[in-house]
Amino acid sequence: MAKLVYRFQEGNKEMKHLLGGKGANLAEMVGLGVRVPPGFTITTEACNAYYTHDGQLFDSLIAEVKEHLQGLEEEMGKVLGSLENPLLVSVRSGAVFSMPGMMDTVLNLGLNDQVVEALAQQQDEKFAFDSYRRFIQMFSDVVMGVEKFHFEQVLSRIKAEKGYPEDKDIPAHELRQIVQEFKVIFLAQTGRTFPQDVEEQLFLAIEAVFRSWNNNRAKVYRRLHQISDSLGTAVNIQAMVFGNRGDESGTGVCFSRNPVDGSRELFGEYLINAQGEDVVAGIRTPKSIANLKEDKPAQYQELLGLVEELERHYQDMQDIEFTIEEGKLYLLQTRNAKRTAKAAVRVAVDLVKEGIIDKQEALLRLSAQEINQLLHPQFRPDSLAGAELLATGLAASPGAASGKIYFTAEEATKAAKQEKVILVREETSPEDIEGMVSAQAILTSRGGMTSHAAVVARGMGKSCVCGCQALQIDETTKTVRVGPHLLHEGDVLSIDGATGKVYLGALETSQDSHDEHFQELMTWADRIRPLKVYVNADNAADAKTGLGFGAEGIGLCRTEHMFFEEERIRTVRQMILAKSSEERSVYLDRLEPFQRDDFYQMFKVMEGRHLTIRLLDPPLHEFLPKEEEQIASLAADLGVSLVALKRQLHSLAEFNPMMGHRGCRLGITYPEIYLMQARAIARAALKARKEGTPVQADIMIPLVGIDKELTYLKNLIQTCLEEEMEQAGLRFDYSIGSMIEIPRACLTADQLATQAAFFSFGTNDLTQMTYGYSRDDASKFLESYLDKQILPQDPFVSLDESGVLELMKLAIEKARSVNPEIAIGICGEHGGDPVSIERCSDLGLDYVSCSPYRVLIARLAAAQSQIKKERQIWLDK
Ligand code: PEP
Ligand code: MG
Repeated sequence: MAKLVYRFQEGNKEMKHLLGGKGANLAEMVGLGVRVPPGFTITTEACNAYYTHDGQLFDSLIAEVKEHLQGLEEEMGKVLGSLENPLLVSVRSGAVFSMPGMMDTVLNLGLNDQVVEALAQQQDEKFAFDSYRRFIQMFSDVVMGVEKFHFEQVLSRIKAEKGYPEDKDIPAHELRQIVQEFKVIFLAQTGRTFPQDVEEQLFLAIEAVFRSWNNNRAKVYRRLHQISDSLGTAVNIQAMVFGNRGDESGTGVCFSRNPVDGSRELFGEYLINAQGEDVVAGIRTPKSIANLKEDKPAQYQELLGLVEELERHYQDMQDIEFTIEEGKLYLLQTRNAKRTAKAAVRVAVDLVKEGIIDKQEALLRLSAQEINQLLHPQFRPDSLAGAELLATGLAASPGAASGKIYFTAEEATKAAKQEKVILVREETSPEDIEGMVSAQAILTSRGGMTSHAAVVARGMGKSCVCGCQALQIDETTKTVRVGPHLLHEGDVLSIDGATGKVYLGALETSQDSHDEHFQELMTWADRIRPLKVYVNADNAADAKTGLGFGAEGIGLCRTEHMFFEEERIRTVRQMILAKSSEERSVYLDRLEPFQRDDFYQMFKVMEGRHLTIRLLDPPLHEFLPKEEEQIASLAADLGVSLVALKRQLHSLAEFNPMMGHRGCRLGITYPEIYLMQARAIARAALKARKEGTPVQADIMIPLVGIDKELTYLKNLIQTCLEEEMEQAGLRFDYSIGSMIEIPRACLTADQLATQAAFFSFGTNDLTQMTYGYSRDDASKFLESYLDKQILPQDPFVSLDESGVLELMKLAIEKARSVNPEIAIGICGEHGGDPVSIERCSDLGLDYVSCSPYRVLIARLAAAQSQIKKERQIWLDK
């Protein structure tokens, strides 16, 4: 079997898949000469082998660990379990991708009843027993599954009885007593005495880390972040250094830049006389790293230097854990820091300006999720003006949200199915993960900017205020007291994770992405991408929003959406139920001014940019009433009996409406509908032109499958437009194109392309018809298909590579072979999906069109695709 254990000296940062992120980076730091406590890493392959050995440690692994332990003992001049010179170690998990708080850690391993006495004599009693009580607590929790609160209750009781303000104030003799009580709890909870054999402790802890890979919260986290279950976790065994060795010791976490807004400053927290878990778990409220400058100036300067060195080395913002043991600084971890989207943008832009990375690399550093975060809501100033500020905590993760408060993850998860929820906790722990996922926002009363709640919320892009000390939470009565206010479960709060403010009641939100650094980054993206980004917009307001996000045109205006307004739908219904083409024309004439005005507004907003208007598409019965009351009212409008109307409605019903009387089939059976729309477009365009507004009208025919459909309708529309222009004595620019959303249209694209000025792939329908899956019903079985890995992804979300994409490729080839000038785009939902955008960019499409709030993502994804393509060409040279 391959080597299963590596000394830190043997690894480097490229070995993440084998050594996990933490192990690989520890090895890298050792290689750089950074002071890191010595240790070794058990590989992720060993974890997977553990599972193939039925969840048992096996002989060769045990032997390798023992050999490396001996090596560590020699390096340290200390021995695990020795009474003369005891070695204590930490056992920590380290997955390939960082999963903060998901996996488990045991510190101070190697202590037992005798070693602690020896340590007490050699060092000092308080330190020895503080370490032992921590070890029993963590080992019980992580390895044996004994819940933490059993131990915390004892600590709280003793502090309260004896008046010790914090854990660190508990004197040695009390700690001895606490250790005794902890061992009694251990016996009661596990049915066995606390293990005294230090090797047994070590192997039990290693197994616990392996097992934690498959605990529920780790699985939830992986699902959320699309991390493969098969990666496994590494285990790091490292000599302990102690931050709890008195006032010349301490521990902390720091970021090379501010992870909330990205500004260039050392950011973080530390605690004097404490161990790492105290900072992360929010047990004590830590001090800001700025205070370390006065507290421990020499160590602060050393830390600052190391942080800068590591940031330059990794070419990215770092998140670093450190411990100071009796004045000596050690680094325990470095990794690329999690950050808010705002910070990600600022850091990427600043790193370019500092000459550390280039613009292309900066663009690749941003993800679609981060862009989504930038679109995070903020409270509207008018709503804020009248709001009652309840309390202020730490602004841990931006975004504003209102919701009903719940005090446990389970209650929050349950309630979130019906309503917007805010999870309110003293502090969160990895067990709360599902509640955090389902909540709109997270509010905690304890813990700092690097507490579990803060780190996880930032990773999720979820609004979070933490360390809000004014809250007195009582989980048993499900209440929280804040000054004079007593709030109950279900009461509504609003929290702003960008300012740390908590308000009473609900507030209204708005969104904003006009960050200057972001704008700069997007100008780089726009310069690189050849793929244009259009927006799908059915009205002037959406068009404005889309342009605000940088859309260059409208790729799809679904005209049927213009018919749904209360006063229009009546006329539409009358038009559909008209008995003759003359009668239908009467109603169409009533509808035309509405359409004309809508188009006019849109032309004005677009100012000459492409406005692609799709003529009426969906099955007519979608417009017809379904409720009894509506049917009766329509019968009255039409002056027919209820029975007669019902008979007529029945005759219009289709068994398979998605493949029925819709799209261009409507235009062919009822040309007067498309004529009315063409007239409305022409008149709106002419009105705008008269006012001096440039116009580019692209008229798109839906659901074309036969070239003659296009011939017939193009002729109809063209004649109408030309007549209107003739009459007005004025022209406007227009083109007529086809949607490509039926497999037959792809297969005969050359026949269509000679007549079409442009093609737009309607990949919603194209996916539906290629798979034969109803786009409205597929969710019923897609879940099983994905679970059973029959499909790699939902094909309605990301373009199917081997089917739909092949059809598109064929269509493009055929089309360009007869009409090299033809413009080709996509306007199905896939146009806003980064994976699909990359595929479209590789296909050589001219544009993608997506909904307004996806435009930024599409602009970035288009740039990223281009960068990847260019890098690949360079690599292939
Ligand atoms: C499509 O089918 O992809 C499309 C854009 O049209 P609709 O979703 O309106 O059917
Ligand atoms: Mg369609």
